[in-house]
Amino acid sequence: MEWEPVIGLEIHAQLLTRSKAFSGAATKYGAEPNTQACAVDIALPGVLPVFNGEAARMAVKLGLAIGATINKHSVFARKNYFYPDLPKGYQISQYELPIVSKGRLGIEVDGAEKVIGVTRAHLEEDAGKSLHEDFHGMTGIDLNRAGTPLLEIVSELDLRSAKEAVAYMKKLHQLVVYLDICDGNMQEGSFRCDANVSVRRRGEHRFGTRCEIKNVNSFRFVEKAIEHEIGRQIEVLEGGGRIVQETRLYDSDKDVTRSMRGKEEAMDYRYFPDPDLPPLMLDDDVIRDVEKTLPELPDAKRARFMKDYGLNAYDAGVLTSSRATADYYEQAVRESKADPKIAANWVTVELAAFLNRDNKDITQSPVTTPMLAGLLKRLADNTISGKIAKEVFEAMWSGEGDADAVIAKKGLKQITDSSAIEKAIDDVIAKNPKQLEQYRAGKEALFGFFVGQVMKATQGKANPAQVNELLKKKLAP
Ligand code: ADP
Ligand code: MG
Repeated sequence: MEWEPVIGLEIHAQLLTRSKAFSGAATKYGAEPNTQACAVDIALPGVLPVFNGEAARMAVKLGLAIGATINKHSVFARKNYFYPDLPKGYQISQYELPIVSKGRLGIEVDGAEKVIGVTRAHLEEDAGKSLHEDFHGMTGIDLNRAGTPLLEIVSELDLRSAKEAVAYMKKLHQLVVYLDICDGNMQEGSFRCDANVSVRRRGEHRFGTRCEIKNVNSFRFVEKAIEHEIGRQIEVLEGGGRIVQETRLYDSDKDVTRSMRGKEEAMDYRYFPDPDLPPLMLDDDVIRDVEKTLPELPDAKRARFMKDYGLNAYDAGVLTSSRATADYYEQAVRESKADPKIAANWVTVELAAFLNRDNKDITQSPVTTPMLAGLLKRLADNTISGKIAKEVFEAMWSGEGDADAVIAKKGLKQITDSSAIEKAIDDVIAKNPKQLEQYRAGKEALFGFFVGQVMKATQGKANPAQVNELLKKKLAP
């Protein structure tokens, strides 16, 4: 029997405002517990929330980027539940009237393109954090995160595999970071996801009963959790059982999902409009102003990189994966006037390997854009060979100065003077009469040996093309 998975994601993106959604407290991550929680965040009696308009502008920015409807009239609602890290006893969210609805996001899986609908994106506040580990037999409550603005982005029932779900999540992640509305830091929980999963028989029109997997915070775990949940549901159904709607938790250590609460225990949130907050009204000029701040979006940038720099889709994709990478690359090409494809190679291969090795972000690269541009120039004007360039790059990475300084200090300038190369070749030939004889007798594989010896004699500095050409002449009988 063929089963078709159906997945819907609810993604929470923490908005990059400096202060909280409804108070003036700071939102900076990692502060001492409860040092960034003011009277509003800890819900002292008599305090009133004041909405931070910056959060609305960020929501509008996303809405515009996904071609969504911006609702000029939206409403804050109270979602009521009791939990120690929620001192008000309710979370301020948007329910019936969200700020953004009906958007779309294009994804690509295994070369196939697909458009995923976004049902809505609504503003809400985060709760605090319960700390179970640090206090023996007790739970600590840190309210620094309480009131931090979140944008919850809900997808339509369009995703059909764990791979598609991850592609969608990555695309949205890239977008919110491009838009500069979320730092995208998944370890710190700035971008996290609840995955709703169901399966149905292929051809069936109705959707199956879903389970919701809560709070998965890495792309890899989302894929595994969904994959696992699909398998579990198919097994239950094929064994003649029924899926019960419930909330499950993913245990990444054991790679299983576990039931957290069933439908019977599902909470009734008793939503109602928050009487302390007026409806959120957006003027046309606010929307227009936000529109002016939209950067070139990832898809457009990628298409332009392919057209302007003659890059293939893959390289263009890697180079536009973040705005910082794209800017780094474009500036390096502009400054060095190097061949864009060669420049692309240096960024996607060499630089990427070093960043990866030292676990650094491109913005932290010790080899700055002007430094890479300097290296590309020396490659282009034949001062150094590609092989030596790698040595120069490594030296720049370890802080030995820019390309010209490294080349001068280490004496790496390429030898292009043909008389010097000829002299090196003559020496090598004189020292290896036996190999010369064998080569001339037809053992052509020895050509590589001679190239190697000449390069060794010149400490790798001889221009490889010239060495090849001159060697061919000299070795000929
Ligand atoms: P809530 O979880 O608050 O009840 P919704 O019912 O709007 O919210 O759904 C939340 C998410 O669950 C959406 O992304 C939606 O696409 C997804 N979803 C709803 N029904 C199913 C289903 N049968 N199978 C898979 N996903 C579903
Ligand atoms: Mg839900």
